Amino acid sequence: AKLEIAEETASRDALTGLRNRVWMEAQIERRMARNGPLTLAIVDIDSFKAVNDEHGHLVGDELLRMFAGELQSASRSTDLIGRWGGDEFILALECRLEEAKTQIDRLNAWACGSYKIGGSVVPIELKVEASIGLAERSPDESMAALLARADSEMYKLKNAARNGRMRLRS
Ligand code: GH3
Ligand code: MG
Repeated sequence: AKLEIAEETASRDALTGLRNRVWMEAQIERRMARNGPLTLAIVDIDSFKAVNDEHGHLVGDELLRMFAGELQSASRSTDLIGRWGGDEFILALECRLEEAKTQIDRLNAWACGSYKIGGSVVPIELKVEASIGLAERSPDESMAALLARADSEMYKLKNAARNGRMRLRS
C-alpha cells in the first residue's frame, strides 16, 4: 500500500496535482502501442509571464492551480491530462481529430475566461486565454514527432492570435 501511495505521488505534478510529464509520456507510449485513435492537445496560457510580473509568483501559482482544476473538470474520463511544464498542459484524447476539435473547443470555453484570485485586500480578476495545438497520430509516427506537430500547431495559433491583438491595438 505504501508503494502504491509513493507511485501515485511520483506520477503527479506537485503544484497542480495533475499528472506529470514523465507519467504522461509513458501513458502516451502505451496508447500508441495499442494503435487506437489518438489526438494530442498542447495547451499554453497566453502571456502568463505578465501575471507573475504584475501580481507576483504566488498569484501565478494560484492561477495555474485553478486553471488546471478547470481543465480537469472539463475533461472526460477517457482523456489523459497532465502538466507539461510551466504554463503548458497536455491532453491525450482517445479519438480522431474532428471529435478532438469539438472536445477542445468545449474545454477552451470552459477553462478560459475570468478568474478571481483572493488578493490580500480585494480579489484580483484575471482574464485567461490559451492557445491549443492539436495533432492526430499518423500511422507509424513516433511520439516525439507527434508532440512536435502539436507544439508547432499551438505556436501557429498563438502567433496568429498575437498578430490579431497587435492589429487591434494599432
Ligand atoms: P506566451 O503568450 O508566448 O505563451 O508567453 P508567456 O508569458 O505565457 O510564456 P513564457 O514561456 O514566456 O513564460 C512562461 C512563464 O511561466 C515563465 C515562468 O516564469 C512562468 N512559470 C513557469 N512555471 C511556473 C510556476 O510553477 N509558477 C509560476 N508562478 N510561474 C511559472
Ligand atoms: Mg504561455
